[in-house]
Amino acid sequence: MSIITGRRAVLGIYAEAARRGWTLPCFCSENLTTTEAVLAAASRRGKDLGVPDAPIILALTCRYPHRTQAAFYTHTREWDVGLRLFMADLGVLAGPGGPYEELRVMVHLDHIQFDDDAELLKWDLGQFSSIMFDASSRPFAENMELTASFVRDRGSELVVEGACDEIVDATGAERGEPTSGARAQEYVERTGADLIVANLGTEHRASAKDLRYLGDEARRIKERIGTKVVLHGASSVPGDKIARLFDDGVCKVNLWTALERDTSPALLRDMVTNAAKVGGPGLASDLLSEGLLGPLSDAASKASLDYFTTTYRQSLVYREMTKIAAFYLDLWYR
Ligand SMILES: [Zn+2]
Repeated sequence: MSIITGRRAVLGIYAEAARRGWTLPCFCSENLTTTEAVLAAASRRGKDLGVPDAPIILALTCRYPHRTQAAFYTHTREWDVGLRLFMADLGVLAGPGGPYEELRVMVHLDHIQFDDDAELLKWDLGQFSSIMFDASSRPFAENMELTASFVRDRGSELVVEGACDEIVDATGAERGEPTSGARAQEYVERTGADLIVANLGTEHRASAKDLRYLGDEARRIKERIGTKVVLHGASSVPGDKIARLFDDGVCKVNLWTALERDTSPALLRDMVTNAAKVGGPGLASDLLSEGLLGPLSDAASKASLDYFTTTYRQSLVYREMTKIAAFYLDLWYR
């Protein structure tokens, strides 16, 4: 089926997911390894459930100041080069004849800034499935005005996710109020956005899994606007607290931090364990004598192609990311 575009077709998939009681996961990616891991996990979950054409959303941010993912996609650090390569990767992997062609892949543009991303906003947006139009840095009334005008101009080309409230960054000092039902309703009515991002207690890039997801608030929003809420910052709360999101009116979750945060420890452990194979016995014995490695690290073996290549590092990352994506798919596709 490959990449699904067009507002009607994309909303059709949301309607189908709703019939199944599924929350759609939207995984952000800033490299090919992540992109491939998400596709592999979705394909496996779809086959396990007897839905080989399972839907899956892949996303990236462009000039979002907290994380410019399209820029990170290549070492040129040019967002437009990265975005075009991301689309090309998806075209090969999930397009006709590709290994994941059976999936229904939706491409989401995440946290697109109403001002910094002005250049992207002039592109043909019909090649993407959905966009998060982010004017949440502006006061509420202006945010609604800007979003309403975007929905009027471009809303027929793709699904629009509006940013009702800002999701704060764990590294910053600001903290916002949770989104109320009344505010969510006003936002949807005034802007015409298809989906809205609400503040439900989660944070971006929180490294301690100690935040609370506010399910009661989510259900109060659902009573007013139906199942239209998108949850961001899901990596900041434990999985068991966000297992029944669909019942709370959450139709989509944008997720990225966990993919990267929970992969690095596995890579570090493997490299420390196999230090000599990765860096050669000379470096490994130096690190051992400096106290950076311990007695259980391999400091004697010869350097090995199976360990010092980029392929080794990426395979490990790929394996871990596939497991993490599978964890969330198991939660939300039942
Ligand atoms: Zn976000």
